[in-house]
Amino acid sequence: MTIAIPETKIRVAVVGTGPGGLAAIINLRKLPYVELSAFDQAKELREVGAGISINENTWRHLKLLGADEKLEQYTNRGDGSKVDGEQRNGITGELLARKYQKINPDAPPRSRIERYKLQRALLSQIPEDFIRLSKRLSKIEETAKGTTLTFEDRTTAGPFDLVIGADGLRSVVRQQSFPEHKLSYTGKVAYRTLIPQSAVAHIPHLPRASTFWHTKDTHVYTDFLDNGLFEIATRAFESDEEGNKVSWGHKVPREKVVHHYQGYCEAIRQVIATPDEWLEFAMFGGPRLESVISNGRIALLGDASHPLSGAFGSGAAFAFEDAYVLTKALEYTHSRGQPIGEALRLYDEVRSPHYKGLYAILNSFGKNAKEIEAISPPLELNELINETTRRNWTASNEWIYKYDVEQVTQVWKEYLDAQEAASGLSGLTLEKEKAIKEPTIPQIAIEA
Ligand SMILES: Cc1cc2nc3c(=O)[nH]c(=O)nc-3n(C[C@H](O)[C@H](O)[C@H](O)COP(=O)(O)OP(=O)(O)OC[C@H]3O[C@@H](n4cnc5c(N)ncnc54)[C@H](O)[C@@H]3O)c2cc1C
Repeated sequence: MTIAIPETKIRVAVVGTGPGGLAAIINLRKLPYVELSAFDQAKELREVGAGISINENTWRHLKLLGADEKLEQYTNRGDGSKVDGEQRNGITGELLARKYQKINPDAPPRSRIERYKLQRALLSQIPEDFIRLSKRLSKIEETAKGTTLTFEDRTTAGPFDLVIGADGLRSVVRQQSFPEHKLSYTGKVAYRTLIPQSAVAHIPHLPRASTFWHTKDTHVYTDFLDNGLFEIATRAFESDEEGNKVSWGHKVPREKVVHHYQGYCEAIRQVIATPDEWLEFAMFGGPRLESVISNGRIALLGDASHPLSGAFGSGAAFAFEDAYVLTKALEYTHSRGQPIGEALRLYDEVRSPHYKGLYAILNSFGKNAKEIEAISPPLELNELINETTRRNWTASNEWIYKYDVEQVTQVWKEYLDAQEAASGLSGLTLEKEKAIKEPTIPQIAIEA
């Protein structure tokens, strides 16, 4: 008689259930050999912070995650004639660049939706009560049997073979795994709100497209959402003392906001004066981590892995890509009987170069600013704003948005072929290395 020996499962904990953690849960639940636990500090899962852009690459992942259909109803597929995005000088209102809605028969167009709708669509793929709430991680400990987690309520969980830190920008998993890594206040806060479109209907010259209004150091983003709401998202300077006091998504009255935008054109001054109340967010960021894994048992994912402080308008998609690649890596190593540490090494080798490329783009902004300031004779303010906007926004850096699921699969295949041929560099690494060595001026969507 043969006795079936149950396969030992891989014990995995996901800490943090924002878009990245939810995507990891959806993907990992499909692996029968994974025993999954998930924790979030929130008492209930809800999203603050107005809208989120769903770009082409994000749609592809949403489809894989089974969350696309719930969101498609909020998008309008046009015929390609709709103006989708504009860049304007915030002082003069001058139009600097315009793009039209891109029609792709396989995916909905770029859309802007409220963040809670994205969260709801992802949550619909996860059994209710699967995520353990009110579990704020405070400590990670390594034992011979695995990694254990201690929460602020003094309960513990574990041991785990793998801990996925999907706990966002201020990740405790990152702080504990990389204690030398520090976040700092960027000197800027974001103000965001959603109001009825009727409240701004009287304001002349307000484009229907999603529009960035630039000045030298700040911008205002305006957008007519498909559901009758109007979104405003801005950046403003606040002193370190003020910025450090701001909590995430803190309500502030109109008076706290309007004085920052007095130099903008009339349409924007009127827009900013309309809402009674705003949400305020202090923007923190930190240097790039050389590696997004630690100790053979910890993987960082989403904002926890790349504290970019709001860049590229695609953070949710980056988190989805992380979750996808990490799952693929686990599948691959499990099928070969390899240890978890090997899956993490593959994950890191595929994702770290991606983040290196993103940080290189941010650095190119600084370089552009220095070059423009060095122009002789110096550019007059509006010319300076226009030139900066053109350089930062008009040339292409397509690889950010081309990193779609099919390409990831292709990249993954190439990577494994390269691994197996022991040739050293993957297709993806080569592509990113090239992008880093030969930086092009990026066309990126900075977070609104
Ligand atoms: C102003 C702004 C605008 C943005 N606009 C866009 C956009 O248009 N498009 C886009 O794609 N992205 C946008 N992003 C980025 C996007 O919001 C993030 O990249 C995305 O939310 C990252 O998801 P995440 O799951 O990694 O982290 P988060 O969404 O931050 O989720 C982290 C989760 O971890 C939990 N958590 C934190 N600490 C602990 C702890 N100690 N213990 C347990 N749980 C914990 C939190 O409660 C939360 O649920 C924007 C970001 C900002 C700041």
